[in-house]
Parts: sequence; structure tokens; C-alpha cells
Amino acid sequence: MPARFPLILTPTPLHRLERASVDLGVDLWIKRDDLTGFAMGGNKGRKLEYLLADIIEQKAEAVVTCGAAQSNFVRQLGAACAYVGIECHAVVMGLPFEDAPPAEKGLSDQGGNIRLDEILGVKLRRVPDDTWESLYAQAEDLALALEAEGKRVYRIPVGGSSPLGAYGFFRAANELQGQLSNIDAIFFASSSGSTHTGLLMGLRHNRTRVIGVASDPEPEIAEDFAALGRGLAELLRTPPPNASSYELDFNFVGPGYGIPSAEGNQALEYLARREGIFLDPIYSAKAFACLRARAPEFAGKRVVFWHTGGTPALFA
Ligand SMILES: *Cc1c(COP(=O)(O)O)cnc(C)c1O
Repeated sequence: MPARFPLILTPTPLHRLERASVDLGVDLWIKRDDLTGFAMGGNKGRKLEYLLADIIEQKAEAVVTCGAAQSNFVRQLGAACAYVGIECHAVVMGLPFEDAPPAEKGLSDQGGNIRLDEILGVKLRRVPDDTWESLYAQAEDLALALEAEGKRVYRIPVGGSSPLGAYGFFRAANELQGQLSNIDAIFFASSSGSTHTGLLMGLRHNRTRVIGVASDPEPEIAEDFAALGRGLAELLRTPPPNASSYELDFNFVGPGYGIPSAEGNQALEYLARREGIFLDPIYSAKAFACLRARAPEFAGKRVVFWHTGGTPALFA
């Protein structure tokens, strides 16, 4: 099985949301991956434990990734690289898009995660907003340029979603099962797919429904997720999931990827005011909005909300 480089504090806490359980009519629990104890928390720490072990194994001198300016992954990767003394490069756009730029504005590209990246010494290359394809191409250009300088480069896909990243969440599913049983459904924010893939594979012998709440409006991502599933299945030597086994709810993306939604903002205030817990506006708030809206489907059932972190974006 893949080697692990310890970065985070596990198990992360799991506790009941007493007041929200009453409000929503479900037995509601929260898995606190906002409290991974590393670089201000978040789900990326779980992926990075396996990615970093591989980065070290490959004797890389620089890592190259890309994402949105307010990427939570770039922040956590930057901290992991700082911890082991490896250069971290990230090509970022304020808001990458699929086909056309969105009508509404996203978060600021100042403050929040950007400020933390600067403190960490991440080598950020900011480029004008364009498509995801263009972002990937510019990250590859940078990787090639570093290689031309003689550096050993490790490329990391957006959000750390490689099979090794997904393996981190496969382990997280086991961690949850050690904390609570008879779970009817898990809700979480889903974007680059390794959280979803890992949880789905980790709970595949279980009746628990694994419900990802999409942060991106593109239904085709189910295919990318299935490809990630094949990679993880190869690592685990088990049969892969097919695209149709992914339960993805696209109804809470709002105006688009990286743009807060009205329902998400309401969910964010609700959880803060009822339970004293902060969500982030781009991922976890939209996921919690979905859980709130769909709670009647799970009346009296045991539901876990997996908090994936992202709270530094509140300061963007
Ligand atoms: C990256 C991220 C997600 C999505 O996780 P994926 O594994 O990329 O699907 C959800 N929530 C937050 C806060 C994130 O930073």
C-alpha cells in the first residue's frame, strides 16, 4: 500500500450537531476536516500525506500545480512543501472557466488563501482568467521550463486529485467507520473528485449513500471521477466504480464555480448561528445548503456532513 508522510492530526473530530438535528429532523453528525491541524485545516491534508511521500520518494526538487487564486489546495500544498524544503510553484487564475467567463464575480484575488500562500513562500504565477485547458497548458509550460533549468519536477493535478490523493480519502472512510456506524448518508462538497472517489471506494461494501454536492456546474466531471476511480482501484487491486455509481447533486452550484451562492451564504450563516461552526462560501456552504434542502428525504436517518474546510476563503 502507498507510503504515508504524516502531516495531519487524525482521527479528525466527529460530533453530533444537536440543534441542527432538531431543526432538520435528521440524526446529524459533522466530520471536522476543517480541523486537520495542518496549515489551517481542510481536506487536502489527507491527500497530501500520500502525495508528499511520493514527492520525496521521487526525489523531486520542485512541485508544480495550478488552480484558482483562492485554491485551498495550493495553500496546503505550499505548507507541505515548506515543511520538507521543496520548492512549490503554482499557476493561478482568479477564476478559471469551462467555455465562457461567468457573468458574476468570484472571490477577491487578494487576501484569504493568497495571503497565506505569500507567507508560505509559494512561487505563484498569476495569469489572466481563461479556460481550465489553458490553465493546465500554462502549468505544463512552467514545469518544462523548470526542467530545462535542470530541476527534477513533480506535477500535481488540480486539487491534488490523483489516485494517491484519492487513497487518502479511502483511508478517511475507514477512519469514519471506526467512529460511527449505521450511517445512512454522507454529504460533502465535491470538485476535483478525489474526496468523492476515496469515500465511495472506502464505503463500497456499505449501505451508506455517498452524496457529493458539485461545486462545478459540468456534468461531464462524472467521467473524470470514474477515471480517478480506475486509478484508485488499480492501487487497491479491486474492481473500479463506474461513472453511474457516483451520486453527484448539481443543483447547488449557484452562479458557477468559485462564486458564492445565495443558498450557500444562508447555509453558512445558519451553521454559524446555530452551531458556532464556520463553513466556506465556495464548497462546504453549498454542500450544507444541499443537505438542508434534502433533509426531508432522510427524515429520522443518520446523516454525516463532511466538513472539507476552506474557511480562509472567508477572508478573501
Ligand atoms: C478542494 C475542496 C473540496 C473538493 O474536494 P475534491 O477532492 O477536490 O473534490 C471541497 N471543499 C473544500 C473546502 C476544498 O478545498
